[in-house]
Amino acid sequence: MTFSEFDLDSRLEKGIHSLGYVKPTKVQQSAIPEALEGLDILASAPTGTGKTAAFLIPAIQYLLDFPRNAPGFARVMVLAPTRELAYQIHEVAEGLCSFTDLKIGVITGGINYGSHKDILEKNNDILISTPGRLMEYMDAETFHCENVEILVLDEADRMLDMGFRNFMSRIAEESRNRKQAMLFSATLEGRGIIEFSNQVLTEAARVD
Ligand code: AMP
Repeated sequence: MTFSEFDLDSRLEKGIHSLGYVKPTKVQQSAIPEALEGLDILASAPTGTGKTAAFLIPAIQYLLDFPRNAPGFARVMVLAPTRELAYQIHEVAEGLCSFTDLKIGVITGGINYGSHKDILEKNNDILISTPGRLMEYMDAETFHCENVEILVLDEADRMLDMGFRNFMSRIAEESRNRKQAMLFSATLEGRGIIEFSNQVLTEAARVD
């Protein structure tokens, strides 16, 4: 199968080709059609499977289908456990969006607070963040997730292990008016990931 079978916006398809992707990987073949339907997604996909594009492609298609109609904070919120992963996701998102005018921001620890001011004030279409610093901005009320339309929790098992369960629940609760949530985890076994996903997702399509 090829990406053209997903019937994606041509700008997004160009972005996919600019990254050199020709054939969707297994997780992309399974997750993208379900996510394009607007279903919540529960996916077990370790790093290296193409999971990043599996959640970014349907999220970007959604943003292109429904342009922003009011200023506000992030429309797509991607939470990732580490800075390295957040920057990797950012790079893929920039590539996929290179033929669109969607705005993408990234917020992690290790960066001075002043330089995030711009990112927080801009109307980002996609915001990628690690939990720690985002929590500080939410506590300081310089950011909130009430207008998030698509929530992505990447490597959610690792974030649970790192002790961010309450924070992920808080984001899920604050973004309760969202259209969709996608939870990606290296494995769906043990460590309470199913229990947590039941709390956050609604009638999710399961992708193994
Ligand atoms: P990920 O699992 O998202 O970290 O992706 C692993 C690697 O596969 C990254 O280097 C991606 O750029 C690459 N990749 C993702 N999707 C595809 C695809 N459909 N075709 C070729 N490479 C891909």
